[in-house]
Amino acid sequence: MEIKEASEHRAEPPCPIYHQCGGCQIQHLSYEAQLLTKQKQVKDVLERIGGLKDVVVHPTLGMEEPWRYRNKAQVPVGEEGGLIIAGFYQERSHRIIDMDECLIQHEENDQIIRVVKKIANKYGIRGYDEEKHRGTLRHVVARKGKVTNEVMVVFVTRGKELPNKKAIIEEIIAEVPNVKSIVQNINTKRTNVIFGDETTVLWGDEYIHDYIGEIKFAISARSFYQVNPEQTKVLYDKALDYANLTGNESVIDAYCGIGTISLFLAQRAKHVYGVEIVPDAIADAKRNAELNGFTNVDFAVGEAEKVMPWWYAQGIRADVIVVDPPRKGCDEELLETIVSMKPKRVVYVSCNPATLARDLKFLEAGGYKTKEVQPVDMFPHSTHIENVAVLELKN
Ligand code: SAH
Repeated sequence: MEIKEASEHRAEPPCPIYHQCGGCQIQHLSYEAQLLTKQKQVKDVLERIGGLKDVVVHPTLGMEEPWRYRNKAQVPVGEEGGLIIAGFYQERSHRIIDMDECLIQHEENDQIIRVVKKIANKYGIRGYDEEKHRGTLRHVVARKGKVTNEVMVVFVTRGKELPNKKAIIEEIIAEVPNVKSIVQNINTKRTNVIFGDETTVLWGDEYIHDYIGEIKFAISARSFYQVNPEQTKVLYDKALDYANLTGNESVIDAYCGIGTISLFLAQRAKHVYGVEIVPDAIADAKRNAELNGFTNVDFAVGEAEKVMPWWYAQGIRADVIVVDPPRKGCDEELLETIVSMKPKRVVYVSCNPATLARDLKFLEAGGYKTKEVQPVDMFPHSTHIENVAVLELKN
């Protein structure tokens, strides 16, 4: 409410809309202090929830340039005084605040949003009115392959109709450098969910591509792909390092998404089995395996906690198991399966220190020892913190 005495770590937030926007939470903390705070937070939670007192928690691996790191912008569109606005929702509301730039977003994505606003105004495209469920343009999504420079622009519309489609496409091509794909997604529902079920390519390819390390990924409008590819490489390199593979190992990657970690592991393992609950993600994973010529990976659709016991019953054994669960952590059934499969090592990638701590405690009781934990800063200026931990089977 009032600053009585400023902390020595207090920083002037460089973003002019920091106090209205819900996107970043800790721009007013110096970046150095953000990294230290995150490390300390992980240590505290491991001790408090996991009862893990003597685990080494390394200093957070941060970014040299912790700005402009996002490769994807998905921005809600509305109208104010008859003009298109596009920006972000005011904290704890659905009121759109118009925005020209976002300092954690790649400049080119900001530029795309500005261009789309301009074109939409020029051609009389109506912004979506959430309350009345009227208007045309609901969201603009801009995606960029940081390594390939390929760009995708997605118009999410309320219906099939996109007036002046042809002229709009021509202007996007003229104004957006490196655009490879222009896509329309149709979302007819009254919902907060951004994408609808129907996607059509308006111009160019269905996919753009990007690399993490040596591995190439095809990214469609709706594909999940990490938003900070630079730090993703740091995280996956650490996971690979902790997996300590020689080329003879059989590895399971549970909660594999589009197979990013699986393919990283496949570079050094004999065989990798990936499991994931979303069918589209597995389709992407298979495509990406093929794109990179991997023949030593298999992907299955299903709940990891159901598929893994089934694999085990089929006689599949794993030398190393990697898990990367959503925020709620691993299902207990899955942890029990790990304990009975007895892999030499477990590598746990986590986006939530609290559930990481809970699950490490379970695995410790099941015969594992947590060796070390490495926090990685995937989302500078937010309170999110990603960790990778390695456990070894005792004796
Ligand atoms: N490892 C991937 C994605 C991790 S995100 C990457 O780095 O890109 C967690 C993933 O777990 C999501 O893709 C989510 O769809 C999936 N998931 C959630 N619950 C699951 C379950 N019970 N079984 C398998 N996958 C699940």
